[in-house]
Amino acid sequence: MEKLFGTSGIRGLVGKEITPELAMGVGLALATQLGNSGCLVIGKDPRTSGDMFESSVISGLLSGGCSVTRLGVVPTPTVAFAVQHLKAKAGVMVTASHNPAEYNGIKLWDSNGMAYTPKLERQIESIYFKNKGKRVGWSSIGKIGSADVVPAYINKIVSSIKLSKEFKVVVDCGNGAASAVTPVLLRKMGCKVTTLNCHPDGHFPGRGLEPTEENLTELGKVVKSVGADLGVAHDGDADRVAAVDERGRFVQLDKMLALISAFQAKKGGIVATTVDASSVVEEAVEKKGGKVIRTKVGDVYVAEAVKKRRAVFGGEPCGAWIFPDFHMAPDGPLAAAKVLELLSYMDMGLAELADSIPERYTVREKVKCKNEKKAAVMKKLGPKLKSALKATKVLSIDGLRAELKDGWVLVRPSGTEPYVRVTAEGKTQKKAEELLGKALKAVGVSVRP
Ligand code: MG
Repeated sequence: MEKLFGTSGIRGLVGKEITPELAMGVGLALATQLGNSGCLVIGKDPRTSGDMFESSVISGLLSGGCSVTRLGVVPTPTVAFAVQHLKAKAGVMVTASHNPAEYNGIKLWDSNGMAYTPKLERQIESIYFKNKGKRVGWSSIGKIGSADVVPAYINKIVSSIKLSKEFKVVVDCGNGAASAVTPVLLRKMGCKVTTLNCHPDGHFPGRGLEPTEENLTELGKVVKSVGADLGVAHDGDADRVAAVDERGRFVQLDKMLALISAFQAKKGGIVATTVDASSVVEEAVEKKGGKVIRTKVGDVYVAEAVKKRRAVFGGEPCGAWIFPDFHMAPDGPLAAAKVLELLSYMDMGLAELADSIPERYTVREKVKCKNEKKAAVMKKLGPKLKSALKATKVLSIDGLRAELKDGWVLVRPSGTEPYVRVTAEGKTQKKAEELLGKALKAVGVSVRP
């Protein structure tokens, strides 16, 4: 069957890969899946195509007998919050996350405020592609309402976190969905906030939407020039957070993940993270008596593992962090508040905390591999990789992750492109390159016919 959903919802180029017709069809399929009744919530990020796709999805939902509460421009996690807060049947977020302005997409949330699992997504695809969407008669068509849930969302976070002092923070929302949320939230927590790129603008003029080191150089400069304790940044829909320390340095995402994981597991407990995260996460968590479990790459897999194993925290190295005490969605504004709670609790600057996490070196390479050959290649590779690297164990949760005493290697087939990606991490650059070389040799042998 054809597919609509990728690893994080439906996403594509506006007008080409994702059209108003498609969005309406997804709305109708969703209404059909939900039994042609009940009320949903819908939010969007500030993309220029946001109103158009929101209207299309709503039209599909109404024609399928569901009613809709519009939330306006809100972060993705606020939609997840709203599902539970308003007791909605499901949630829809119109966003393309960190993709450039010419993209848009649709992400779905279930009645528990959890991301749609691949299983639920397959149901939507089945209804959509088989034209099984069921329209209701004129007297059962749904209605549109609206609600501002941002104050309740902010208040819930504020009431759960107390800070010991007034922090000075620079917030960079990249002109995205959290522009009117994170600055307000942090001020309510008693912080002195300077904003950067915090006017919503669907052209995203401020910076690239992915919160990477290259995209956050301006944030680093502003943190230094205003003498802030911290800089925080989100991606376009604010399900992720990245941080800059008081010296204006971007803190590597793996280090942030290790710090927050150890903080959440300070009384022990399980932390869920993906197979592509650094081993510094284990080191930091195990020091606190906690345990790390690994999942497939993708926030829905982390959420499922957190729920199933009753983990105290779940996070991906891209900056998507799940705090299950609050809800099961990766949440950027909440994560920003948690970073402040960490600084307050430790009574240390972020620079010192970041430097307490050991440096790791990562190198990556991609090897050409035809899509139809990927499964066979990966099947054969396991034992080869283990012997080539003298690995202590090889995890096959998502691709193959070979673990060694002083590093690891991950081999994953790309979901969309004809490549197999190889990542190696070592305690030195030399070690990382040595591991990559050995892994490539093992992979290369398998890829050639
Ligand atoms: Mg995102």
